[in-house]
Amino acid sequence: MTTAIFWFRQDLRLSDNPGFLAACEDYDQLIPIFIDDNGHLKSQLGEASRAWLHHSLESLNKQLTTFDSELLLFKGVALDVINDICQKTDIDAVIWNRCYEPEAIERDSNIKAALKAQSIHAQSENALLFFEPWQVLKKDGTPYRVYTPYWRQVAQLGLEQPPVSTPSKIPTLPTASLSNVTLKSLDLLPNKPWPADMLSYWKIGELAAQNTLTEFLARSGGVDYKNKRDLPAVVGTSQLSPHLHFGEISPRQIVWQTLQETPLHELDGGTETFIKEVIWREFAYYIMYHFPDTQHEAMYPQFKNFPWLEDVSENLEKWQKGQTGYPIIDAGMRELYATGWMHNRVRMIVASFLCKNLLINWQLGEAWFRDILVDADLASNTLGWQWSSGCGADASPYFRVFNPVTQSKKFDKEGEYIRRWVPELKDLDNKSIHEPWLASSVVRSRLDYPEPMVDLAATRLRALDAYSHVKKQKELLQEG
Ligand SMILES: Cc1cc2nc3c(=O)[nH]c(=O)nc-3n(C[C@H](O)[C@H](O)[C@H](O)COP(=O)(O)OP(=O)(O)OC[C@H]3O[C@@H](n4cnc5c(N)ncnc54)[C@H](O)[C@@H]3O)c2cc1C
Repeated sequence: MTTAIFWFRQDLRLSDNPGFLAACEDYDQLIPIFIDDNGHLKSQLGEASRAWLHHSLESLNKQLTTFDSELLLFKGVALDVINDICQKTDIDAVIWNRCYEPEAIERDSNIKAALKAQSIHAQSENALLFFEPWQVLKKDGTPYRVYTPYWRQVAQLGLEQPPVSTPSKIPTLPTASLSNVTLKSLDLLPNKPWPADMLSYWKIGELAAQNTLTEFLARSGGVDYKNKRDLPAVVGTSQLSPHLHFGEISPRQIVWQTLQETPLHELDGGTETFIKEVIWREFAYYIMYHFPDTQHEAMYPQFKNFPWLEDVSENLEKWQKGQTGYPIIDAGMRELYATGWMHNRVRMIVASFLCKNLLINWQLGEAWFRDILVDADLASNTLGWQWSSGCGADASPYFRVFNPVTQSKKFDKEGEYIRRWVPELKDLDNKSIHEPWLASSVVRSRLDYPEPMVDLAATRLRALDAYSHVKKQKELLQEG
């Protein structure tokens, strides 16, 4: 009788799960486990993510029970937990799907070594990405730092990959009782209304993820994507990001199902744009793997010692609370707090405002997003923030300062998105909804809405001045 542990991590699904399939096919007994080692990893999950995780684990366990199996929960240092199970039961193998966060890589290598020393087979598979980061390299063997050539190579390697099948049966559990940790005792749900209210916007778990994809494709999401994805007032994107982060669905399933509707060689612009965005996520993981220091510092050395402002708590709080006096920024920040998600176009606008107009270090914005986003993801969040502040891979040039008013007029022309999230402005006309300070003094006196917290033109010049420091640093580095 052979027994394996399957360790669920960022792959909370039964379908297209190579590690889980191997564990089910190759062993007589299977112990599916989840370890809450969050307190032991430095890159901790934020509050919104922990709340999502609670429901995702509940959903996964429900699915396992339909196969007469069960998800066993543990809390603590992963190596200790696994060693402990191996001491209590005769384990032949421990199987998992790979994670790519630097700390997770280190943790998993240590566990692999410890298992090897005990002659226990350790097996890891890929369930998170199309290609391993080390498979995609430039001709000279170094990693890409720019998206387009990376995309070309990835597309050439082939994205039409059929998902692996769902196990038809799951091996039984050993009889020994191995854990008395309950989902409730993991304490993932904070004891306050938020984020419970926030989660009411979402359906969580593998089946919900698959339905979200099917609905997105059915409303011609792929085809219309190019036209609608920049409009925050409409549901023009898939909203799959939290499901992808927790592995309730795989990128391979998304692309495969999308291509069932439109084959790769006949791709219309919209669908190709959608697939390219899915691959931006893969690029984020790629950058995190090859440049692990980017999780806490700029990719390029000329950004070290950047003159960020120091005494920023008051301005940071106005930004976090959606009280900046710039309607599109406030709408985005309030959407984030209410739903745990923010439209990508608005993420770029609020991030540019924080880093450039407020000259606040991108890491403070990244930390806030990490706590509040249900899709908070070390790789994509870091890439997004470094893109916005100009200091990362394939970043927006440092001299590009988004003007929130121009962006608002362009992408939320009628002010529908602003009216939804900043209801105190809902009666303004379509012009002053973007610039309430232009409304008549009578109208303004009736508004319970702050004046703009900074002057856009002056702060833009201040940002350009600060960023000229980067240029000087670059020249000095080149000379030296
Ligand atoms: C400052 C900033 C922070 C961000 N933080 C995160 C984060 O923590 N987690 C996260 O998943 N995304 C992050 N993004 C990327 C992007 O905003 C979200 O992935 C997207 O808004 C999710 O919505 P969607 O699922 O409807 O995306 P869709 O437009 O439907 O795209 C499909 C999938 O492609 C991936 N994707 C799309 N755009 C990007 C992108 N620019 N970078 C990486 N992957 C992308 C996502 O997995 C997404 O679910 C951030 C972007 C910025 C500018």
